[in-house]
Amino acid sequence: MQTLWDKALGLLKNRIEPETFDRWIAIIRPLQGTDSRLTLEVPDTYTAKHIQDNFSEKIKDALWDTAHHPVGIDFRVAEPADTLPAISEGAARPVVERETHREASNEVDRLKDRFTFDNFIVGECNALVHSAGIAISKSPGRQYNPLFIHGGVGLGKTHVLHAIGHQIRRENPRLKVVCVTGENFTNMVMNAVNGKNMDALRTSLRGLCDVLLVDDIQFVSGSQFVQTELFHTFNALYNDGKQVVITSDQPPAALELLTERLKSRLEWGLIADILPPDEETRVRILLRKAEIEEYDLPYAVAEFLASRHTGSVRELEGALNRVSAHALLMKQPITLDMARRITLKSCNEGRGRVTSERVIRTVAEYYSLNPADIRGPKRHRAVSIPRYVAMGIIRDHLKFSLPQIGRIFGDRSHTTVLSGLKTLDRMVRTESSVGNAIRDICQTLGFM
Ligand code: ADP
Ligand code: MG
Repeated sequence: MQTLWDKALGLLKNRIEPETFDRWIAIIRPLQGTDSRLTLEVPDTYTAKHIQDNFSEKIKDALWDTAHHPVGIDFRVAEPADTLPAISEGAARPVVERETHREASNEVDRLKDRFTFDNFIVGECNALVHSAGIAISKSPGRQYNPLFIHGGVGLGKTHVLHAIGHQIRRENPRLKVVCVTGENFTNMVMNAVNGKNMDALRTSLRGLCDVLLVDDIQFVSGSQFVQTELFHTFNALYNDGKQVVITSDQPPAALELLTERLKSRLEWGLIADILPPDEETRVRILLRKAEIEEYDLPYAVAEFLASRHTGSVRELEGALNRVSAHALLMKQPITLDMARRITLKSCNEGRGRVTSERVIRTVAEYYSLNPADIRGPKRHRAVSIPRYVAMGIIRDHLKFSLPQIGRIFGDRSHTTVLSGLKTLDRMVRTESSVGNAIRDICQTLGFM
């Protein structure tokens, strides 16, 4: 049973953030069990409830993956240490617990230096959040209290939250700004309860705090105790005229885990959403990022990346990072050609078996054409060369016969295919751009 648990623990370690793992999983002890059921010991009821609410599915999955059949779990709360005869009053264990508690209570987040309003590009997608944030920074607690910001992953919620924190500190350094994630808030409350130190926590979150920033409130535990604590924290701050700003991936009403009274509290102020940026805003975000990091980003490259990455800003930044890292590594300036090749490569990575369709799509992307043009009847150079390139790759790497290739390319005869391939072989010898294109595309497809 111990081995089963140890092995499952190994899996869990890879599946859960290290800090969370140490705080909530490493403390679990397997007590007894059968093949299909395991009793797990945890230090107290709050921990039991938190683990049950948040990790029981993950634990069961890991046990299933280890035992290769479902294993049920029960939690049992350990006897309090000071009732055990072997440990006398003032013995080592409670002291260690108090120390752990003190460390964990400092989990208040640092504001990221880079997340300022200066670095935040404003577009239609985030204009409301931006102007509310600026207004709050000028006079916290006066209007829009609380400000509730919601939006999808990677759209700038944390950035704007930290920007508000920086701006308030800049305008009024005496104000104490506390920033905490929903998950850390949960940990802080749990630790304080275990260490019987709720008063200290309440002082730091209510009495000594002028502005409370809560990031990703959706990660606050569903535990009643934590929710009640959050509710009273909001009330206390609100009644004292102190500012609260919250971010979440959904609007308050959609947050299933939160209690109704907490949700209605969150709806008192302004609820504003951040949407995905439009293309023009995406271009400006990229240019600003290059400016901050002090490298040259040609406008055409910013436009190209912005047209390809229409999802989150985080994804857009990732694409730019890949290009700038490549340029730095190769000691070359960033060019459109380079951006195209790198973008193609990452779009194609890990997509499984290469089909003729995928070859045509990749060639089309490389030359900025439609796949239909490559298959179709047009005969001018701008499409015929890419077409020969696609034919050549399909012949050499997918080992298709000439008639097979003819069928893929709009029912061309095998002699037409043959003459196209001969032209291609000649061009590879005489025009380096064609050889380079084939090499890049093959690399993208994972043939090299
Ligand atoms: P979220 O918290 O919504 O998941 P983040 O605030 O972490 O997203 O933003 C993801 C990345 O995108 C960060 O690097 C952030 O600086 C950047 N970003 C998002 N929106 C903007 C914007 N309007 N201007 C500049 N950078 C932005
Ligand atoms: Mg965030």
